[in-house]
Amino acid sequence: MNTPTFDIFPLSSWLTKQEITRKPAIIAGPCSAETEEQLLTTCLALADLGVDAFRAGVWKPRTRPGMFEGNGEIALSWIQTVKKHTKIPFSVEVATPQHVELALKYGVEILWIGARTTVNPFNVQDLADCLRGVDVPVMIKNPVNPDLSLWIGAIERIYNAGIRKITAIHRGFSGMNQNKYRNAPTWQIPLELRRMFPEIPLICDPSHITGRRDLIEKVSQKALDLNYDGLMIETHCNPDEAWSDAKQQVTPARLKEILANLNVKQEKTDNEFVTNQLEEIRSKIDAVDRELLEVLMTRMSLVEQVGTYKKDHNMVVFQRERWNEIFNSRAEWATQMQLNGKFIQQIFELIHVESIRTQTKITKNLAEI
Ligand code: PEP
Ligand code: MN
Repeated sequence: MNTPTFDIFPLSSWLTKQEITRKPAIIAGPCSAETEEQLLTTCLALADLGVDAFRAGVWKPRTRPGMFEGNGEIALSWIQTVKKHTKIPFSVEVATPQHVELALKYGVEILWIGARTTVNPFNVQDLADCLRGVDVPVMIKNPVNPDLSLWIGAIERIYNAGIRKITAIHRGFSGMNQNKYRNAPTWQIPLELRRMFPEIPLICDPSHITGRRDLIEKVSQKALDLNYDGLMIETHCNPDEAWSDAKQQVTPARLKEILANLNVKQEKTDNEFVTNQLEEIRSKIDAVDRELLEVLMTRMSLVEQVGTYKKDHNMVVFQRERWNEIFNSRAEWATQMQLNGKFIQQIFELIHVESIRTQTKITKNLAEI
């Protein structure tokens, strides 16, 4: 399916509207709006840090029933209290058309669609239908499962409803046996989104990726190094006592430290000498890549010879012992050459799949399998 390029507003036109346009945009606030006092205390401290927008969950999608599911409409009135003290825009998660109506009624300026909603096209379409004709920014979190099409599909549904202030939020992907992170970042998915649609602003949510406050700075830095446009960081005046996501929330004071420690790098440099040096290295990389392809071409023609040999001698295509030997020896060679053995094994897995495909075509005399 052909996806047109999106005609989307840059963040600087509606989010980072301070005198100096700042990158990254910072959205901060508690996981949930628990009490008026908690929300106000947290937001006032964050206002002092000059964050670009607040966040707070009013309706909380919880994995198991019986957990704290948000305070609902009353929490929207607390947001209005915060608004009496500061002009910083507020963002809230919406999962149903009723949430959208209520959030807008109480003056919430930015909506976001959570990971458990992005995953369901029916829900996203319901939200898109009720957003038609409304000029409100919508941030769309990645779906819980690592499916880029589903994420793009949700963005398209909201875009087709006429929303032009759209942002993608990368919050990681759930799965089994995750040791370090609560949700695996699987960076290649947001980076592929970026490659396909560079016009869509991309924000990282290190809080939900890590699930641990001690890793938030590291993941935030990584996102900045990958040129993300902003960060959404869960912040609470008393994180240990938080009613949801306690382990991953930081205090406003800690957020201040994190922001001060982050190294915001530039995309390009004005220094012509440095630019030329980079161009020189890149042209060497281009030449090496051509050599790599030529070597691969030689390898594939040898694979074709092996395929013909196996066909002539009625031998099976997949030879387990030979594959084992390749898989292990290449990793060993790689390690000796100071290359990452795991990475080289991944490359050889791909090469092996292509080799099996080529040989199957030869032995079966089929056009394509
Ligand atoms: C949240 O932002 O608090 C939240 C529920 O996030 P997610 O949809 O990423 O799980
Ligand atoms: Mn949360």
